[in-house]
Amino acid sequence: MIDEHGRIINYLRISLTDRCNLRCRYCMPEKGIDNLGHYTILSLEDIARLVRIASQLGICKIRLTGGEPLVRRNIVQLLHYITDIPIIDDLAITTNGILFADMAEDLKQAGLKRVNFSLDSLVEEKFRYITRQGDIAPVKKAIFKALELGMEPIKINMVVIRGFNDDEILDFAKLAFDYPLHVRFIEFMPVGDLLFWKQDRLLSSQETRRTIKNHYNLLPAKNIEGNGPARYYRLEDGQGSIGFISPMSNHFCAECNRIRLTAEGGLRGCLYDKEEVDLREALKKGYSDDEIKELFIKVIKGKPSRHNMNDGWGEDNKRKMYQIGG
Ligand code: SAM
Ligand code: SF4
Repeated sequence: MIDEHGRIINYLRISLTDRCNLRCRYCMPEKGIDNLGHYTILSLEDIARLVRIASQLGICKIRLTGGEPLVRRNIVQLLHYITDIPIIDDLAITTNGILFADMAEDLKQAGLKRVNFSLDSLVEEKFRYITRQGDIAPVKKAIFKALELGMEPIKINMVVIRGFNDDEILDFAKLAFDYPLHVRFIEFMPVGDLLFWKQDRLLSSQETRRTIKNHYNLLPAKNIEGNGPARYYRLEDGQGSIGFISPMSNHFCAECNRIRLTAEGGLRGCLYDKEEVDLREALKKGYSDDEIKELFIKVIKGKPSRHNMNDGWGEDNKRKMYQIGG
């Protein structure tokens, strides 16, 4: 489907849960959140049905996220449901990696070929600080497990936060030099738990790139699978690549190909959208596939031309990042 601004919409990001086994300072309140009950989130069968309907409108790429998607029970079953839908040619997951290593083989067998790990520090104490409770060891184990299983691409997402991890930019770049990993440096956005967000913690991609360029020869790279908004470079003689995601300094809305589904079944055109269409309600009312298709079309047609994040996150936005699915 093509939206009102000429963009091809072929990518659906699905939040499987609000729950998380970490409490990243920029994302979740310390005490966690009121977990959604089983009756307020979409069942796996509902999600599979929605994906099938969306695929008939041209959605062929799916990302599972959250909250932490791997805490959702029976996620492997969901992967099977989704890989059984013929039009879906790309299925990925964004995870903090804590639970990944033990599940990796089942996930791979169910059709998961690629994975994004979120990791903001390589230093044990700093990792514990930013996640408030996390142990870095299982995350490292997860990344090596994904490498061992030959998953490709394996992406590492680092949110660059001035004064917290900007001194590790070169260590992350070195990961991409030493291993076939695709490290993406993400600009800190004023979303999520805003108590931690501060304008001066934002470090632009241009600054990050300058730091890396002083130490590595950056060569243009082809886009890495996933159709994401990152700009990629190879490090001369290195194994992987680095990428920059710049939602703040250089928004990529003109190329945005995605819509989003929350764990409760809210369908939205943009992370920053204040409107959602309630698909869970539609499912409850017994809507037919065609009726649900109309709701997808409504959201795609209404997808805003761009976000207004630089004007402030809009505290009036009812939802947080972990609810929408980052
Ligand atoms: N729990 C999973 C994880 O951490 O990978 C998936 C959900 S998490 C909300 C998805 C991604 O959003 C993570 O990479 C996280 O770092 C990113 N994120 C959350 N809040 C952010 C913010 N304020 N600015 C930039 N990225 C953010
Ligand atoms: Fe959990 Fe991911 Fe948010 Fe961290 S960024 S609290 S891991 S949902």
